[in-house]
Amino acid sequence: MSGRSLVYLHGVEIERVKGVGGRLGPKLREAGISSVGELLMHYPRRHVDRSLVVPISRVPPATEVTVVGVVRAITSRRPRRGLTIVEAQVVPDVDYEIRSAPEGVVAVPLDEASGMPVMTFASHREAASWIAAEVPGIAARTLGSLWVTFFNQAFRERQLPPGTEVALSGKAEHFRGRLQMKSPVVDVLGRAGHRRTGRIVPVYPSAAGIASWRLEEMIANALRRSRPLDDPVPEDVLSPLGLVSRDEAVSGYHFPDDERGRVEAHRRLVFDELFRLQVALALAKHRLVDESEGIAHTLDAGLADAFLEALPFALTRAQLRVIDDIRRDMASPHPMHRLLQGDVGSGKTVVAMAALLTGVQGGYQGAVMAPTEVLAEQHFLGLEPLVRRHAVRMALLTSSSPDRESTLERIRDGTVDIVVGTHALIQEGVRFRALGIAVIDEQHRFGVHQRVQLREQGDGPSPDLLIMTATPIPRTLSMTLYGDLDVSMLDEMPAERPDVTTEWVGADDLPRVYNRIREQAETPCGAAPGGRKAFVVCPLVTDSDKLEAASAIAEYERLQGVFADLRVGLIHGQMRADDKREAMAAFRGDRLDVLVATTVIEVGIDVPCSTVMLVEDADRFGLSQLHQLRGRLSRGVGPNWCYLLAEPTTAEAQARLAAMVATNDGFRLAEEDLRIRGQGTVFGERQAGSGDLRLADILRDATVLVAARRAAFSLVAADPDLAGHPGLREEVRVLLGDKVDWLFRS
Ligand code: ADP
Ligand code: MG
Repeated sequence: MSGRSLVYLHGVEIERVKGVGGRLGPKLREAGISSVGELLMHYPRRHVDRSLVVPISRVPPATEVTVVGVVRAITSRRPRRGLTIVEAQVVPDVDYEIRSAPEGVVAVPLDEASGMPVMTFASHREAASWIAAEVPGIAARTLGSLWVTFFNQAFRERQLPPGTEVALSGKAEHFRGRLQMKSPVVDVLGRAGHRRTGRIVPVYPSAAGIASWRLEEMIANALRRSRPLDDPVPEDVLSPLGLVSRDEAVSGYHFPDDERGRVEAHRRLVFDELFRLQVALALAKHRLVDESEGIAHTLDAGLADAFLEALPFALTRAQLRVIDDIRRDMASPHPMHRLLQGDVGSGKTVVAMAALLTGVQGGYQGAVMAPTEVLAEQHFLGLEPLVRRHAVRMALLTSSSPDRESTLERIRDGTVDIVVGTHALIQEGVRFRALGIAVIDEQHRFGVHQRVQLREQGDGPSPDLLIMTATPIPRTLSMTLYGDLDVSMLDEMPAERPDVTTEWVGADDLPRVYNRIREQAETPCGAAPGGRKAFVVCPLVTDSDKLEAASAIAEYERLQGVFADLRVGLIHGQMRADDKREAMAAFRGDRLDVLVATTVIEVGIDVPCSTVMLVEDADRFGLSQLHQLRGRLSRGVGPNWCYLLAEPTTAEAQARLAAMVATNDGFRLAEEDLRIRGQGTVFGERQAGSGDLRLADILRDATVLVAARRAAFSLVAADPDLAGHPGLREEVRVLLGDKVDWLFRS
């Protein structure tokens, strides 16, 4: 190879860069930049194109603009206690300013230390042509000043000494004959007189307080020494996609010649981030599926078929297709590694049960894992009735199960067919006689390496794995978070479901909501005895089942007063499993009209006569959680109403509520959620994906993501050890770090 690779540069200490002496080295290291490679990956936050910025002399008032100029003077004063005003005069970035003076027209050097003379001319025109001839390339105009004011930002005086070149973004106003800008956004570009090339200036995110222009210098120095950069991505991947070389991309993104170059460079760097991740996922999938020994389950033993035939409804086409995918995987000698996606109510439970029984019918055991004990109980309550008539032995295992020891024993000796519990079920080495299939309810994220851990339990063949997402996730996100899995979609709802009208209400609307609940209780529910029913969901209390239960109890007591004429019940996570079951049975049968509940009702609760839901303090719930809750409605009769009681204080919460009102479509809500929260928050901490995406945005860059994925998977299919692509292999290993270590252990 001819040039330097990024991996090599990640091994070159930052102190080797020209200009990084003395105190800068430790500062950069503190900011996470300890090598030349990391410095080169400290990308500009944005670029300022000087040819597009508005000249100071022509700034329109009261409009958001960006101007570039040089600080001419800066002063600060304290008119009274608690108020510091810093005022800077900013002038256009030219070497001379032309002004009228008593002695005629003068050209005054802006950088007074430069030794250039003050010149006197007969006219402005004469002055301008002299400057143009004397200092080629510098436009001299008769120029105004912009007066910039900062309140209580004393540090500006140190940040912006005279001679500093700045980009200012804000609104200018004419005030007492001056053009003034109050508290603009400031980007320090550099030092005037420090002649720069190119008209597009990178603006760097501050690293440990180091100014953008100093980072720019260091990066320019580092680039000069490191180029040309090696390209680890094969030409036959790059050229069909029209991607520029690594070398062009890195230097062209820091220091673009023009906007087009900046866009091309950006596209390649985004591709690289996504491609590295997809190569890692492709390698993971290869290790987990193609190279692993699994169980070839039998499809003909009859139990799964008998179960499906006994269902009181016909399966949807989507369910049939997905069950088919699963059976094909399960019959193959490689372990299944599949993600099942479907909106609330799309019928995932039946599909999961078909998979479990496909294992059970051949003498294997199944496990269902939920992220919390409460959810595990809910799953158990939802699944168990489905197989009661098929002589399948099911057990619930939680840390608080009274019969825990005997259940463990039965799991060991094989007298339990399907066990439901939390992830601890297999992570803490509960011994199965023969675990054949695990279904994971992916309410919370379960990282790739956790899936690996799970696989590496025990030394027999790997069980099949079906991961279910209770809420849909945008396709681009699932390609990133679950890129090592095959995906099945339940994209068809079982039957027309009655409409749900969602309304965002305030405290003033409560009487109207309560009337709706009363009116529905008096409306017969079709064939079922009694009236229609309402859920009242109590405020979420983060991280405390106890406090959440307390608030539900208080609300239950209050609502018994409000609905003196109705039968009000209560369910929360701190109740004993028996009591919960009893509360649900009373609500489903005709012994309750209103059920006050915590989020324990989020999954698996199916009460056809429920037509109203009131979610209190709805702004405290996440979007996917609200969608799950609303999914408890519309289970049989209609119309249905979902009231979200909230007086949100943040823009984010308002956006969530507005999204809920706007659509019922889980996939649209999922995209909206990603947009509102940003991708940073949806990646698990330790998961590959989070810190590795600096420039890529999986929503905006969806097309690049799809291309990167396709390229990565076909490359790994042809070269599963990347033996023919050592540069790429090293780059994935080094840049993705310990998250992918396991991939490179033999
Ligand atoms: P999910 O878990 O995907 O939210 P469920 O599996 O709980 O959905 O199914 C929702 C409801 O639809 C349940 O009452 C279930 O019995 C019912 N159901 C599932 N599949 C069908 C079908 N093919 N036809 C009619 N009803 C169905
Ligand atoms: Mg379900």
